[in-house]
Amino acid sequence: AIYLDAMATTPCDPRVVEAMLPYFHEQFANASSTVHAPGQCAYDAVASARRTIASCLGAQAEEILFTSGATESNNMAILGAARANTGSRRTILTSAVEHRSVLEPCQMLVSQGYTLKTIGVDNQGRLKHDELQQALGDDVLLTSIQMANNETGVLQDIATISRLAKAAGALVHVDAAQTAGKIPINLQALDVDYLSLSAHKFYGPKGIGALFVRREAAAHLGPIMGGGTQERRLRPGTLNVPGIIGMARACELALADMQNEGKRIGTLRNLLENLLMEKIPELITNGDRARRLPCCTSIRFAHTDAAGLMLQVPHVAMSAGAACSSGSSEPSHVLLAMGLDTDEASRSLRLSLGRFTTEEDIRSAAEAIAEGYEMMSLLTGVGA
Ligand code: PLP
Repeated sequence: AIYLDAMATTPCDPRVVEAMLPYFHEQFANASSTVHAPGQCAYDAVASARRTIASCLGAQAEEILFTSGATESNNMAILGAARANTGSRRTILTSAVEHRSVLEPCQMLVSQGYTLKTIGVDNQGRLKHDELQQALGDDVLLTSIQMANNETGVLQDIATISRLAKAAGALVHVDAAQTAGKIPINLQALDVDYLSLSAHKFYGPKGIGALFVRREAAAHLGPIMGGGTQERRLRPGTLNVPGIIGMARACELALADMQNEGKRIGTLRNLLENLLMEKIPELITNGDRARRLPCCTSIRFAHTDAAGLMLQVPHVAMSAGAACSSGSSEPSHVLLAMGLDTDEASRSLRLSLGRFTTEEDIRSAAEAIAEGYEMMSLLTGVGA
């Protein structure tokens, strides 16, 4: 199969697997058991991994808290900010194009008496800054806006968004699950309080992630689980040592070659779009083409249902909408928020490339998708 679904997940890089292996059966001790030598060894390995990840992001080591992934990190930031809130700020701001792991915890706070305001995006998927500005008052506890969208790759201007939010005295959370490891993130330059990461989006293992908690903002976060003193009492539970080691190695590898790799992948993505548009002239792309991740394209067909097309081309792995909602027949809330109707949304397909995508993959996939499209058009008796 040709794998064009790298935004759903990436394979573990073999170098990551290699770094992790000793921590399953040789250095397996509990990183909290520092009273004995094996435990101290695991503790040291975790401390070193924490420093590595922090330095890749321009953060301090103690600002990196390990979680099971971005879903947990998002919940921890949003529900945790409310948990620690003793003041009068009772409004949460988010955007209409967030991942469900942001939208649902925000929604959960409504039942705790919070007001949720959802900021819209324009037809290119860009957050409406004027709407944000209007919603930002002294009642806002937290804003939670993503860095890049997981369906279109469209990038939000987090520097501006956080400046506006900070000016209103709000805490700022950013879901960076899709950007980490792909484009530089410098937390020294970016005034955000909390930032979510997930290792499996950048060639690390699944089930490990982190929440960056800025030192000054730690007191504004409360634990959402009880049971231990790990991770500064904010995230109890035995640390996933192999996962943590793997995540750190994945960070190092991503940073080492980020610029070249971004260029290479962007060139392949553009080739894919050009080949598809040559073969299917009525094809349209969704979202801002100027400010988006290099690894992805969201394309829209004139007549053809994307889920049906995917069945015609089973050897190309791609996605109609986000991975966690594909399989459901719900139209993408992201594309609807951009002003597409349900029919247009159902004719949209996300293709995402990664470290192991080759030009040959792109040429074969474009060929196969165009053939599948032609077949669908014949079957349904329209177009082509
Ligand atoms: N946020 C975004 C933008 C994502 O794309 C994803 C993954 O699909 C998540 C959060 C959830 O990440 P995880 O799979 O690590 O829980």
